[in-house]
Amino acid sequence: RPRVVTLGETMALARTVETGSLRHVSSLALGIGGAESNVAIALSRLGVDVSWLGRVGDDPLGERVLREIRAEGVEVLGIVDPDAPTGLMLKERATASATSVYYYRSASAGSRLSPGDLPDGWVEGAAILHICGITALVSESGHAALTAAIDRAKAAGVLVSFDVNFRSSLASAGDAAPVLRGLAEQADIVFGGPEEAALLGCGESPEDIAEQLRGSGVSELVLKQGALGATAFTGSGAEESPGFLVQAVDTVGAGDAFVAGYLSAYLEGRTVAERLVRANACGAIACTSPGDWEANPTLRDLKRFIAPAGDPVN
Ligand code: ATP
Repeated sequence: RPRVVTLGETMALARTVETGSLRHVSSLALGIGGAESNVAIALSRLGVDVSWLGRVGDDPLGERVLREIRAEGVEVLGIVDPDAPTGLMLKERATASATSVYYYRSASAGSRLSPGDLPDGWVEGAAILHICGITALVSESGHAALTAAIDRAKAAGVLVSFDVNFRSSLASAGDAAPVLRGLAEQADIVFGGPEEAALLGCGESPEDIAEQLRGSGVSELVLKQGALGATAFTGSGAEESPGFLVQAVDTVGAGDAFVAGYLSAYLEGRTVAERLVRANACGAIACTSPGDWEANPTLRDLKRFIAPAGDPVN
């Protein structure tokens, strides 16, 4: 049985091969990407049984999405929607340090996810339900699917993990805040960057926001702080953990790898400090390659990465 279940939209992802604007580059490399499937793949690499659910179009890109996720050892509950195309995402590296993402996802198959897509027992049988804010902002039916999944998780005592993942291309901060806050309040673990935390708490400090969320039953607010690392706010205070020093090539997907690292260590019963170290390591490793999920580490990769130089590994 999957220990983590997650649902959302995964799109075909075409990225520029060489540095340059989409106005001029002539070649693109094709892959796939989606926040929840990135987390699912990262969890699978770390040895966690995981299931992903989503809709794709009845087209070659949809087949590719399902095949690639499945090939990573993730159980795939793929719904093929004959009435809408698979979404597409274009990633541009206009300069060596600037990555931009463009979405072609309105009315896509993935955005038509709805509560009726959830099979009976799927959420109930898991240890963790992981969701993210993107799905709620993409469509009302997606939001309803998340709410239905959360209701089932809560009724069955399944832990709810929520990554805020606010995307300004999908909604204004003002429109998104109440939706994202509503989801966060129902979660047990909330992940987000400093700006996303501020969005949830109307600008207060992370400590205050964590305290407010605790009032709704959120036990942990985990703040992702890019190269600086991360801080977890739990009932026993704030735990900081520094980032790992790497040559970052592409930070897109680092947040998803981070979440997978944290959740896998959680499932192993590790302490908050240990979860943060693993999460930071996964995030840092994900930054070292241009793909959104391809560089995600296995437990063996992690051991080598975290071991101080000169220490024997394995
Ligand atoms: P995403 O673009 O995937 O949504 P995010 O904004 O959610 O990312 P970040 O804070 O950018 O998340 O990164 C997540 C984690 O990845 C950080 O907490 C850190 O552990 C690691 N990380 C990100 N950038 C770097 C970096 N330049 N060097 C080392 N580690 C990094």
